[in-house]
Amino acid sequence: MLQCLPQTLKLLPATVSQTLTLSITAIACLLALIPPAAAQSIEKWDQKTKIVKITCQDYYRRPVLNVRNDTLNDVAFSDLLRHRGVHMGPMIIINYRILATLSQASQKFFITHECGHHALGHLYFRPPGLQAEKEADCYAVRTLIRQGGFTLDDIENVQEDMRKFARKTPFHPSGERRAAELLKCIEY
Ligand SMILES: [Zn+2]
Repeated sequence: MLQCLPQTLKLLPATVSQTLTLSITAIACLLALIPPAAAQSIEKWDQKTKIVKITCQDYYRRPVLNVRNDTLNDVAFSDLLRHRGVHMGPMIIINYRILATLSQASQKFFITHECGHHALGHLYFRPPGLQAEKEADCYAVRTLIRQGGFTLDDIENVQEDMRKFARKTPFHPSGERRAAELLKCIEY
């Protein structure tokens, strides 16, 4: 982004064509400062396995890879795929064994929560913590409602599962507190 600054500021060229070229560069640089439009997420319910598949995009609109790991000590976890220390892309590691035990509403919610971490750029810009978790919870509930078909009954379902399963960690509030906060996400 810093290389944009001289071009943005240096708008005193000798010719009209130079003015035009530099203006276009300046506009392109300014547009690059605007965050990308909200990332998309698409869900599919597999009638046979009773498991929801959700594909989503991260803050930079890159596809988020779903990786199965049934030894994960949680339902799902967001990370950046690394190869020899180089970031290869965003991913969600999912324990499908645990996921399959949850209601359809909770499956959608917990995977969309992970999509939220990626879509909001948490893995790039925000240290893990209570605030990031709250934002991802709100992202999930708002996204699912906006997409349609996610009702207050579904939210109650999620709250029930949160109270039962969500563990308190240094980065996560208790399931009871998360459940209580959930409805505040849709109070405008
Ligand atoms: Zn989270």
